[in-house]
Amino acid sequence: MQLQDILYSQGFGTRRVCAGLVQQGHVKIGNELVTDSALDVEPEGLRFEVDGVSWPYAERAYVMLHKPAGTECSQKPSTYPSIYTLLPGPLRQRPQKGPVQGVQAVGRLDQDTTGLLLLTDDGKFIHRMSSPKHHVPKVYEVVTKHPVEEKQVQRLLDGVVLDDDPKPVRAAACEASGEHALRLTLTEGKYHQVKRMIAAVGNRVEGLHRSRIGGLALPADLAPGQWKWLTEEDLALLR
Ligand code: URA
Repeated sequence: MQLQDILYSQGFGTRRVCAGLVQQGHVKIGNELVTDSALDVEPEGLRFEVDGVSWPYAERAYVMLHKPAGTECSQKPSTYPSIYTLLPGPLRQRPQKGPVQGVQAVGRLDQDTTGLLLLTDDGKFIHRMSSPKHHVPKVYEVVTKHPVEEKQVQRLLDGVVLDDDPKPVRAAACEASGEHALRLTLTEGKYHQVKRMIAAVGNRVEGLHRSRIGGLALPADLAPGQWKWLTEEDLALLR
């Protein structure tokens, strides 16, 4: 594959812009400056540098973001900055393979919710992870306004009825993790589900953080606002 086409596929701009990046000396492979934009390169397993930043070639991009509070999971946010501004341009500009350009969030978190958010340009992956049929468990750390009572934990496990559906929703797991803290595992993703479930048992969410999706935990060293590529091992934990 020509180097300019590789850069194009990874979101570095139009083919003309990508050819220019190479010809003007912005691109290195294995520490060697490459200025022939038509150079034939094997993309599989390739790492390249653009302006000193190292990139892996990825046919599809899979990343995690530690979503900070006060950000919206929307391309067109209404009040708070978009989470997409936390990602580098190439991830947002990867050419369109499905209906949309760049990586997309796998589901949404509220503006005040923090924690693990996955993003990808693999439409099938988004569908599988979001489909209620697949029951991918998501773990939330909840800070509550009122002390957690054992009967509230039991009701969350037994199932509560929310206002938009007569069918009860239940937590796949739930435990008090402090006087004002709960750890709650859900396998669905209804709108404001945690906040509505906690309200339904007479308490109130004061803080919400997603710590885990499937077998994948938010790493302790990924600070709020930071992102990282998912490894093959990370992806295996989501299957
Ligand atoms: N449930 C909520 O209420 N909010 C979120 O952001 C995620 C789950």
